[in-house]
Amino acid sequence: MNPIFADLPTTVFEVMSALARETGAVNLGQGFPDDPGPEDVRRKAAEAVIHGWNQYPPMMGLPELREAVAAHYARWQGLSVDPGTEVMVTSGATEALAGALMALVEPGDEVVLFAPLYDAYLPLVRRAGGVPRMVRLTPPHFRLDEAALAAAFSARTRVVLFNNPLNPTATVFPEEDLALLAEFCRRFDAVAVCDEVWEHVVFDGRRHRPLMALPGMRERTVKIGSAGKIFSLTGWKVGFVLASPPLMRVLAKAHQFLTFTTPPNLQAAVAYGLGKEDSYFEAMRAGLARSRDRFSAGLRDLGFSVLPSAGTYFLNIDIAPLGESDDVAFCERLVRRHGVAAIPVSAFYAEDPVRQVVRFCFAKTDETLDRALDRLSGLA
Ligand code: PMP
Ligand code: GLN
Repeated sequence: MNPIFADLPTTVFEVMSALARETGAVNLGQGFPDDPGPEDVRRKAAEAVIHGWNQYPPMMGLPELREAVAAHYARWQGLSVDPGTEVMVTSGATEALAGALMALVEPGDEVVLFAPLYDAYLPLVRRAGGVPRMVRLTPPHFRLDEAALAAAFSARTRVVLFNNPLNPTATVFPEEDLALLAEFCRRFDAVAVCDEVWEHVVFDGRRHRPLMALPGMRERTVKIGSAGKIFSLTGWKVGFVLASPPLMRVLAKAHQFLTFTTPPNLQAAVAYGLGKEDSYFEAMRAGLARSRDRFSAGLRDLGFSVLPSAGTYFLNIDIAPLGESDDVAFCERLVRRHGVAAIPVSAFYAEDPVRQVVRFCFAKTDETLDRALDRLSGLA
């Protein structure tokens, strides 16, 4: 057995959801929305299951979805990609990430990562033979800085794995940080694998800026998105990858032996959904921003110290002012004694974890959020 996987604990999301089920807690841990997703998109999938093609679709994805992906990114992010050679459909962003690392990393290559980091990254990097070089980001702003990047990059850097907006901190990196990172990628001739699954979930008038759009990044970026976050359908696992043809040819080789394809009916529904009018996407983020504001105000009223949330489904609190220094113990108590499941952010650090931040998912009905607030009262 390979120890990289054999020695891994079960992912914190699964552990917390199981605990929430077992204890009857309000589950604000794992990031999934209460919103059932747009009905027309779900109907399209149902129709495609009954009346459509249910055999293997083309390996790179349904042509209609590849075209819809290209048109969607042109409309929302000003990117111009060729659907025939620069777009690939994957079974979720997770497959895209695994495939990109398998395809791009050679044993001994260095991979720059940013902590806190999504928990899938490090095992995948290690299993690909990559040597992780961690940039540690810290509260309250979790920004990039030049000295930290200079310490992480070297002549052996091959890949930079960058998540923006950042789960779990809800950071949307400003242009200045993106420009700094792009400069390092160019200087060290590194490929940026950009996990941008949260690109549509940005608040307060923000518009997502893809690293791929920065000067010199077009041909050295692998951009990953996911329909799960765009349509509040996290179980669908339909992802997409944009990359220039030389990179895409290699990524396709990994994809062909990881999953080969993705259910055609879900692809057809996502193709339809990506073409929805701007107002759908705007309403989705406005609804989420309202939930964020409601939950954040509720937490503040209870006396919690709430960190800024510029995007994603997540809101973090700083537990240090409560005299707490162990987020895992705090979350254990929260779920077992108070009936609210949350995620300790230390789970997103590989070494030297920040232990004072706790993540809540606010993509829930008002009733669920209020129930959670009720249970949290008296804690701060
Ligand atoms: N990357 C990040 C940063 C995520 O937050 C998630 C899921 N929430 C994923 C990847 C996985 O996406 P998918 O479900 O499409 O595999
Ligand atoms: N990405 C989701 C989160 O951050 C969970 C995904 C999962 O359960 N693996 O909560």
